[in-house]
Amino acid sequence: MSVLPEIDTQFLLDFLAKLLNTPSPTGLAEPAVAFTEQTLKAFKPLKLGRTRKGALLASWAGERDDGPRALTAHVDTLGAMVKEVKSNGRLKLSRIGGFAWNTIEGEGVTVFTSKGRTVRGSVLLTKASSHVFGAEVNEMKRDDENMEVRLDARTFSQKETVELGIQVGDFVSFDPRVEVTGGFVRSRHLDDKACVACLAAAAKALYDSKKKPTHPTHFLISNYEEVGHGAAAGLPADVEELLVVDMAAVGEGQASDEFHASLCVKDSGGPYHHGLSTRLRGLAEKNAIPYKVDIYPHYGSDGEAWWSAGADAAVALIGPGVDASHSYERTHTEALVATTRWVLAYLLED
Ligand SMILES: [Zn+2]
Repeated sequence: MSVLPEIDTQFLLDFLAKLLNTPSPTGLAEPAVAFTEQTLKAFKPLKLGRTRKGALLASWAGERDDGPRALTAHVDTLGAMVKEVKSNGRLKLSRIGGFAWNTIEGEGVTVFTSKGRTVRGSVLLTKASSHVFGAEVNEMKRDDENMEVRLDARTFSQKETVELGIQVGDFVSFDPRVEVTGGFVRSRHLDDKACVACLAAAAKALYDSKKKPTHPTHFLISNYEEVGHGAAAGLPADVEELLVVDMAAVGEGQASDEFHASLCVKDSGGPYHHGLSTRLRGLAEKNAIPYKVDIYPHYGSDGEAWWSAGADAAVALIGPGVDASHSYERTHTEALVATTRWVLAYLLED
């Protein structure tokens, strides 16, 4: 059995918590890209650069010169934009990414004005009070019309809200509510910040053990995944294989769980590359990595974005099991460590 470099689990969890607490809805992911860049700077052999689209590309020279590879995880998350400033001073939202309204009902939000100001508030049903609206509160459909943002400011008219600097098109982030307890990590946006943390922890493990990847390797921290085209651009043209590191879908009927890493062999975009997936299974077996093989029924990845953009390469997908994805998510440190070890096994593959 090969021995993989030691993983600094505390570093992984600390970085993850900080990243989760850095708002980054798709379109306004720059602060999270910058924070990741700052963290990866410590691992000297990584050459860091930005794509024109704003993603982070970190490249590591290999032991060998041939067979360049890439890994990707996305740092952008679900979020919203101000669609309309209503006559009562509250905000109508336009959702960014695919999620159901009920998953953010009652959540705290931050509105980012175009002048750089932030205003706090929360997402509520337009008829939120059961003392006022009775049974309607339970019966109303959660949709674009019936959900609004109540701002924590003295505003009761469109004019007053506009005077706060809030306009149509301002970004809105949802509070992640990060909590690490008994090995569990509970937070919004573990998709896919958990995997960005796994990549950072793998880079640190290599660096600390004075190793380098077998092949030239690029890490793409993409910033438009939740809307479908993240890694469509940004990977060097000579990359022969892409390992997408993204959350595994946990729920009834799924093989994945919060204590394993999963290999996704098929999702909404069809099967992944069988040859690369088979090698990944072999690496997991060889290194005693707890893993599952699964199919995700309603799921797309940056690998498919790249394939659809015309990439001629092998693409596979692994990641930690995340419960209640695109809702209030949860995973466990065991799944994060398993994913990081799998990434290391791939980086150091003979
Ligand atoms: Zn994702």
